[in-house]
Amino acid sequence: MNRPVRVRIAPSPTGYLHLGTVRTALFNYLFAKQHDGQFVVRIEDTDRGRSLPIYEQDILEGLKDINLAWDEGPDIGGPHGPYRQSERGEIYERYTKKLLDEKKAYWCFCSKEDLDAERKAMLAQGLFPKYSGRCRSLPREDAEKKRAAGEKAVLRLYVSDGRTVSFSDLIRGEVSVKSGSIGDFVIAKSEKELLYNLAVVIDDYEMEISHVIRGEDHISNTPRQILIHEALGIEPPVYAHLPLILSPDKSKLSKRALETSFREYLSQGYLPQALVNFLVLLGWHPDDEQEIFSLDEMIQEFSLKRVSKSGAVFSLDKLEWFNAHYIKHLPFKELLEVLWDFIPPVWKEQKERVEKILAIERTRLKTLSEFEKLASFFFVPEEYDTELLVWQKMNLEEVKEKLTAVLGLLANVSVFDIETLEAALMPYAQEQGRGEVLWPLRVALSGRKKSPSPFEIMSVLGKEETIKRITRACEKIDAYETAT
Ligand code: GLU
Repeated sequence: MNRPVRVRIAPSPTGYLHLGTVRTALFNYLFAKQHDGQFVVRIEDTDRGRSLPIYEQDILEGLKDINLAWDEGPDIGGPHGPYRQSERGEIYERYTKKLLDEKKAYWCFCSKEDLDAERKAMLAQGLFPKYSGRCRSLPREDAEKKRAAGEKAVLRLYVSDGRTVSFSDLIRGEVSVKSGSIGDFVIAKSEKELLYNLAVVIDDYEMEISHVIRGEDHISNTPRQILIHEALGIEPPVYAHLPLILSPDKSKLSKRALETSFREYLSQGYLPQALVNFLVLLGWHPDDEQEIFSLDEMIQEFSLKRVSKSGAVFSLDKLEWFNAHYIKHLPFKELLEVLWDFIPPVWKEQKERVEKILAIERTRLKTLSEFEKLASFFFVPEEYDTELLVWQKMNLEEVKEKLTAVLGLLANVSVFDIETLEAALMPYAQEQGRGEVLWPLRVALSGRKKSPSPFEIMSVLGKEETIKRITRACEKIDAYETAT
């Protein structure tokens, strides 16, 4: 097919943006970029009861946060609008009328009770349960009269039995389904209120969508959509169904994980670059072992041919790994800028200190939200057990002796940078034992078992605070010894 490439995502605003939709958006975006095509966002809000504006806003904002810019959409408009199904009633009406006029669809008045009874009877006879076609023979005029009198009806598509509905999926290959297992299915509640399958077909056609790239959870809808294309006498798009996202034990990913709002990941301090890089590998495998891809590289390398049929495993560890990588490699200024939203307001008054700490801590960060916890002791000294100062078999007396010696050595140091501090203290630490000197010093400065090196910490704290904290450790030892 040599149509210009136009792809779309069609999220339903019945919940917050989640990872699955972002992956679909990303694959569509990459495909569009590769083919000089266009990427469209359409909001599928046919389910009026469950669709909410806040969800639509969350979906659009989330996609903006990761820079997947679209060419047409509800917020920016475009030549094929409106881009919300709830606003497309007039367009839909043309199509439902055409289907009725051409006897491709008919009004059905069967009640839920009728349908249930029919279903039971079919099952009892060992038949595949589907609509019997009872209302097929009702003349159109009679049906319209009944509707005008207020009787409830739905629109069903005629589906003839004994056919095979096939399509060629770019990822899954040939897919065929027997029409007998489908039956006359419901496509609309009224001329303007369509159900998903009909609305999606009309919208994709009207919006000149060339390729429908979407999650495999929709593959069972595709034969129905092909039948609608046939009934309307229009050409279907090319389909590509992306593999399901599975949990690490290969079971279906929990609803919770799938429904975790995508923007929640952003507010936990996952970088957009890391999320995009992580998502592109959920189903797509590059030619080689490369794992780190910039968006430009993805556009170069991505190919639907290398998207696998089997489920893509979601691993939070892997996401953390990507995030740590991007935190480590982002230009420092950029990292500082994104970190800004993750620190307490009072720290912002000490920008230089935050910068120094970030330079030291960035290699330990898996998410930006961890920074506050990792860095808090630099701003406010923390309480710790006096015994934590003790390295292996030392006693507190010896610990105090080492710390006092360190205080003596520091008295002569005026420039508190890492190099100068190392030059001043390392000879003593080598002589007395590194653990014996550096462990108590680190605990005195940080109050923690795990922290950056004492030299790094001192370079941030400066002389006055360093001396204060070491002195405080010595006082704690005195107090401990008096108490015991
Ligand atoms: N509205 C559907 C969804 O949110 C997408 C349908 C489609 O891509 O055809 O899953």
